[in-house]
Amino acid sequence: MAGQAIVIGAGIGGLVAALDLCCRGLEVTVLEAQNGPGGKMRRVQVGDQTLDGGPTVFTMRSIFERIFADAGANLSEHVRLQPAQILARHAWDAEAQLDLFADPLRSAEAIGKLAGPNEARGFLAFSADARRVYQALESTFIHATKPNPLSLVLRAGWRGLPEMLQIQPFARLWDRLGHYFKDARLQQLFGRYATYCGASPFLAPATLMLVAQVEADGVWLVEGGMHQLALAMAALVESKGGRFRYGTDAKRVLLTGGRASGVELATGERLGADAIVLNTDPAALGQGLLGDEIRSAIPRQSPPQRSLSALVWTLIGEPSGFPLLHHTVFFSRNYRGEFDALRQGRICADPTVYVCAQDRDGDGRMRQSGPERLYCLINAPADGDQNAYGAKEIERCAEKARMRLEECGLSIRTSQDLVKTTSPADFNRLFPGNGGALYGMASHGWLASFRRPGARCKIPGLYLAGGGTHPGPGVPMAAMSGRLAAQSLLLDLASIGR
Ligand SMILES: Cc1cc2nc3c(=O)[nH]c(=O)nc-3n(C[C@H](O)[C@H](O)[C@H](O)COP(=O)(O)OP(=O)(O)OC[C@H]3O[C@@H](n4cnc5c(N)ncnc54)[C@H](O)[C@@H]3O)c2cc1C
Repeated sequence: MAGQAIVIGAGIGGLVAALDLCCRGLEVTVLEAQNGPGGKMRRVQVGDQTLDGGPTVFTMRSIFERIFADAGANLSEHVRLQPAQILARHAWDAEAQLDLFADPLRSAEAIGKLAGPNEARGFLAFSADARRVYQALESTFIHATKPNPLSLVLRAGWRGLPEMLQIQPFARLWDRLGHYFKDARLQQLFGRYATYCGASPFLAPATLMLVAQVEADGVWLVEGGMHQLALAMAALVESKGGRFRYGTDAKRVLLTGGRASGVELATGERLGADAIVLNTDPAALGQGLLGDEIRSAIPRQSPPQRSLSALVWTLIGEPSGFPLLHHTVFFSRNYRGEFDALRQGRICADPTVYVCAQDRDGDGRMRQSGPERLYCLINAPADGDQNAYGAKEIERCAEKARMRLEECGLSIRTSQDLVKTTSPADFNRLFPGNGGALYGMASHGWLASFRRPGARCKIPGLYLAGGGTHPGPGVPMAAMSGRLAAQSLLLDLASIGR
């Protein structure tokens, strides 16, 4: 198909849209404000080393296999993936620890040891239901263009309706978890999956149980870090004729007769196109960051509920006193308090800390000896457009995180010049429009997922892709949104052609 498309943003959604469009013969230009691809799937330089500074958990490999295969390529020839036998280690104090495994029976055994046989049975029941939720929503929601509650039921058909109701779409995740687990630690562990979408486990719908199934289907470690995936995708787009203009800020989407017809850059240069894919946070539209004319391209959310942001420390250091794995979570002793504080715009005194030990394999073995590359993350409110996060405030938060780690036995020896902090204010600067929210709007309440904008908006010729749009955040979902945007764009161009 002939035609010119501009993709604004080289996050994973933009990269996938660009690839699919190139493969269908469109002339594609990707405009990216940063100096390389990946967006939130970013790399951070600390000392003389580079670290992943965004996503670290790679799941839903099959989505990427399909994307690469459709472009005539083989994913495993472009990125090297190692399946993780241990999904993650979880700690509550120096004694209470729990590993979850790729093999659910091993996880059940570990849960039995930590919390007793009833909880192990609860885990198996939970896993079976999480699988059911995933299967019920896979084709009706995740791969569907822009579902609403009615279309979801129609797609499921009469036979699928009991299955839909069985997944308890109106229940809250936390309440539902109480049905499987009496041990608060396990409620906390499985409730944390809500934060993968930037939501509070206490407000997220029970359907987010499906994240447990996504992890059970496999977690992979990407050799060289997650950013390698972005580099591989960008190289593939270029091999298909796509062009990247890095360090290029798109300032305004241009309209002709109400239809998107080009982009004005911050430099004043104007580029024409038959269609445009926007890979920014959709909230950037409402804020007029891409021009006043397209402010109302998507309905305004009222009251807007931003998803979580984060405070991330990427550092080179020497951990001791705790057997870190590649992924380790140190839980707050007051989980409800943590999320209440976040809702009030505060970071709690006792935050949950996620540590990614990037040089360790799934079993915790180091690839080399000496100081290692580490990444510590705590949840933070998405107030990066109102709060500058000064050095004192960041140090206070670092101290809270450090205390949580030390109570679990972990100390990290490092020096100030080997630590780089990314705050909600930094995320807001890098990914403008939503105060540093990392996952679009919060998935709170059963209707929230349906409120995410789809690929099409009110402006003909303008399409949305990314974690803030349907089907939602996370690397695989944002990739899916890129496919949905490309599909919609191609269908519309073909129908105009006819
Ligand atoms: C700290 C952190 C941890 C995470 N952990 C995980 C995880 O473990 N697993 C997982 O699956 N997901 C995780 N995520 C979420 C995941 O990274 C995102 O959902 C996904 O990468 C978002 O991709 P996107 O397509 O929305 O694009 P984004 O990554 O949001 O990229 C958008 C791009 O658009 C560019 N842009 C914006 N405005 C303009 C403009 N005007 N002109 C030009 N360019 C512009 C930006 O520079 C950016 O490169 C994490 C995210 C973060 C930040």
